[in-house]
Parts: sequence; C-alpha cells; structure tokens
Amino acid sequence: MKDCIFCKIANGEIPSTKLFEDEDMVIIKDLNPQAKIHLLLIPKQHFCDITEMSDEQAALLGRCLKKLSEHVDEFGLSEGFRLVSNKGKHGCQSVPHLHIHILGGQQLDDKMC
Ligand code: 5GP
Ligand code: ZN
Repeated sequence: MKDCIFCKIANGEIPSTKLFEDEDMVIIKDLNPQAKIHLLLIPKQHFCDITEMSDEQAALLGRCLKKLSEHVDEFGLSEGFRLVSNKGKHGCQSVPHLHIHILGGQQLDDKMC
C-alpha cells in the first residue's frame, strides 16, 4: 500500500536490519528497541490488524508464526520471548500494518501493561 512504512520496509524501499525474509514476511530489528532483543515480524501483505484479515491472510499469519518458531534459537531467544501485537488506540498501535513484536534476550516483567 502506498505510503505505508512497513510495506516499504518489506519491499526494501526503506532500509532495515533484516534477520529473516521469505515470500510471506520479513523479520527486522525494531528501530527503538524496548528490550535487549526487539524484533518485528511483518507480513508482506498489507492489512491493518487481525480484525481486518481474510481467511487467506489468517493462514499466512499462521505460516509466519510457525516459521518464527523454527528460528528462535538463531535470534538469541532460546530462553524465551514475548509476542505482542498492538491494535488501535487502546493498544497504542502506531503503524497500521499488522506486525508482531518479538521481545526477549532478558528477563521480561511479569506485568504486561
Ligand atoms: P506499534 O506501535 O505500531 O505497535 O509498533 C510500531 C513499531 O515500529 C515501534 O516499535 C517502532 O519503534 C517501530 N518502527 C517505526 N518505524 C520504524 C522504521 O522505520 N524501522 C524500524 N526498524 N522500526 C520502526
Ligand atoms: Zn503496509
């Protein structure tokens, strides 16, 4: 989608530190990390959040999470991690292209908000 920064990151128009890429997604380092390891899983298809996805996009997201599970050790997350996807105003979503935050590399707080 035109003017979407995550579409531009996914197609390489905006540079990023990519740790993984395939036909479905990219996994990049977050620009402003909130944990020792803070990655973003970004599907290449544009949709705003899970309330907007088609059945096909739901299957795509499932594939992305499965693939992530196969790469956690090489990302330095073998001790565990947290997945977060912010949605809308209450969720503090700032980029309206679905993405999953992957947080780890340290002991995370047991409080989540
Ligand atoms: P949200 O607030 O939508 O859940 O998360 C957006 C995330 O994208 C934030 O953690 C922010 O730091 C990250 N971000 C925003 N712009 C860029 C960018 O241009 N490059 C990278 N790597 N991360 C970005
Ligand atoms: Zn987009």
